[in-house]
Amino acid sequence: MTNFPTSDADATVKVFHLYVRHAGSQGAPWKEEYKEKTHDPEKFGRQLVEYFNGTVQPGERKREFVRVEVLGVAAAREDHEWHKQNLVTRFLRGMPVDYMQCGVCGITGKRWGLDRIKIDSEYRGLVYKRCDTSLAHRLSRGIKCP
Ligand SMILES: [Zn+2]
Repeated sequence: MTNFPTSDADATVKVFHLYVRHAGSQGAPWKEEYKEKTHDPEKFGRQLVEYFNGTVQPGERKREFVRVEVLGVAAAREDHEWHKQNLVTRFLRGMPVDYMQCGVCGITGKRWGLDRIKIDSEYRGLVYKRCDTSLAHRLSRGIKCP
């Protein structure tokens, strides 16, 4: 099984469209937008499609890489951009808690008291630890991100 493509630590963040279509079909490709720290967006795109195909869920169809179109370069973004969802601090199990959501990739977490934010258990996977990989993972599954 292919792993999620790794980013290049010394590369700038590239913004690009990845064009894919259902494997074996001659249908029109659709595009997904990515922001990745990589020297080679095309290689990244090919690996991402391989990763997707290695992790297809029941009901999902395998994909075929078509092409990559590089749009530009953006600033590096590994950290989530947390925004508080509740206006007034809530209490859960007697503890003050703030419900947080990342304004970029859309995952959620909770801040207990003044502690650091704990990502919600449904986003426990390693892919969600960094905002850029989380965003790419969610976009590749067709989840609408903020
Ligand atoms: Zn994020």
